[in-house]
Amino acid sequence: MSTLWERTLAELQLVVPSQEFTAWISCLRTAGDPDETLTVEAPSAFHRSWVQRHFLERIRTTVESVAGRAVPVVLAVGTSGAAAVRNESAGTTANGCAPASVSPPPIRIRTATRGMGTHEPSFESFVVGTCNQLAHAAARAVAAAPGRQYNPLCIYGGVGLGKTHLIHAIAGELRARFRSARVLAIGAELFVNEMVSAVRRQQMETFHHRFRRIDTLLVDDVQFIAGKERTQEEFLHTFNLLCAAGKQIVVSSDKPPREIANLEAGLRSRFEGGLMTEVTPPDTATRRGILERKAADAGIVLPADVVAFLAERIRATSVRELEGTLTRIRALASLTGRTIDLALAAEVVGPMRGGDQRHATAERIERLVGAELGVEARALRSPRREARLVFARQVAMFFLRNVLGLSLAAIGERYGRDHTTVLHAVRVVNKRRDRDPEVRRLVSALEEKL
Ligand code: ADP
Ligand code: MG
Repeated sequence: MSTLWERTLAELQLVVPSQEFTAWISCLRTAGDPDETLTVEAPSAFHRSWVQRHFLERIRTTVESVAGRAVPVVLAVGTSGAAAVRNESAGTTANGCAPASVSPPPIRIRTATRGMGTHEPSFESFVVGTCNQLAHAAARAVAAAPGRQYNPLCIYGGVGLGKTHLIHAIAGELRARFRSARVLAIGAELFVNEMVSAVRRQQMETFHHRFRRIDTLLVDDVQFIAGKERTQEEFLHTFNLLCAAGKQIVVSSDKPPREIANLEAGLRSRFEGGLMTEVTPPDTATRRGILERKAADAGIVLPADVVAFLAERIRATSVRELEGTLTRIRALASLTGRTIDLALAAEVVGPMRGGDQRHATAERIERLVGAELGVEARALRSPRREARLVFARQVAMFFLRNVLGLSLAAIGERYGRDHTTVLHAVRVVNKRRDRDPEVRRLVSALEEKL
């Protein structure tokens, strides 16, 4: 059973624009189901005051309708992690209200609430990196010559990695290039709903007709139709007819077709008979590109050091997180009239990481790394060079650098190596994390524990 807050979040997600939701609401936390009052924690005082001004009323009414009774909602600032630390320095208690310096100004800043992504998703606004270049190239090829190669094209991968963006980019390009083409981009959920209502109103003829005269059919989030028997049957039928007529089909899915439970076998083999491309989380370079691009599109001046800092700090797997961060940065800048610099960026993303990093001492890092990789913590500081130990040492160096912020020289000294070895280690771990899911998991598991 999900909590009141989880159900409230699900409701809010339907009504709050997604950029705004990611930037401000998804990171709010509660201590669990309320007895009397629902206390919602924001990661910083600034965040709290923004939510209070822009979303509190809506949160209150949503909580009430979900709970079926009036539940008082109180906004607080998170008591854990850097948010609390900053509140102390700003002269308030950890649970206190926003300090005066970030209290909301009397006028509402409209531009700051508009969020990123006001541009139509297109190929031009899509940032290509190693994580998505095959999917992007295939999408381009399909948009250039629909129905020729790669039919169907299946784009799969996790949430927020650009699948819907690519679907709309293909559709947009086809509409622009072939003006008379009948292009339909539709979410699978809508496909299901339309079919169900056609069945109910006994209008299957119209439904068939509508879908079968399409030149290019793009179905987003096709995993949604799994387990719905009649819909799958209908979809397969449409699919076969369109394919036989040489029409292009593109589908996206949150996982590879073979991993979609209850996907009808005919559909699965259809999907697998085409081209399957995966989108994976962006690596550091791509994150940098995306930040630059989104900032430029939104008219935000983002200095290079801030871009580099953010691309390192925000290792979330979804591009939406990057967009959300930009939204918050812009909001803080316009709210306080400050220019965007490293200090401001750190203020915005710092609290999101949680945990007081000063407590993570070098020994503790070594113990955790050792335990995680099955080597003795002490051996990390020995001259031994077995492969497993070398890698574990590199991971430890990486954390000493990134979490403790120790200098390369200081880390080198600790391990009896010079600073170029440390630099190399940090780069190796960065690179492997970007490429190797195993290493990515390892690093985030360690990050969690730290
Ligand atoms: P998915 O459908 O895979 O869950 P979306 O296509 O909705 O993800 O992408 C989430 C957000 O991130 C959108 O605003 C989208 O424009 C943006 N986005 C994702 N990938 C890229 C990219 N490579 N370049 C630019 N924007 C991107
Ligand atoms: Mg999507």
